[in-house]
Amino acid sequence: MQVIVGYIGDADLPDESSEYREDAIMSEIGAIFKPGDTVPVSGIYRVTHDPKHTQEHEVTCVKGKRFPPCRDCAHPRFVLQRKAHHIETHEFFSHFY
Ligand SMILES: [Zn+2]
Repeated sequence: MQVIVGYIGDADLPDESSEYREDAIMSEIGAIFKPGDTVPVSGIYRVTHDPKHTQEHEVTCVKGKRFPPCRDCAHPRFVLQRKAHHIETHEFFSHFY
């Protein structure tokens, strides 16, 4: 006898990133941003610069801030590598006074 588990007819259930569902596309790993865009989710971003300026590197960006322009090249790009909840907005922590 076959046992049917789960939903029927809905193959597009949200994955583990569903907590970010309202802007799911912009907060997926690999999403690309440019200076002036709003950071959709705190975490590690890989930055690529004009190769004449410098090699790519990683930075931490905080949700709600904007990706900054580069001092030395016109077109840095920020690629989401890993989400990491910013501690100042994490529900587990309070603040020093
Ligand atoms: Zn640059």
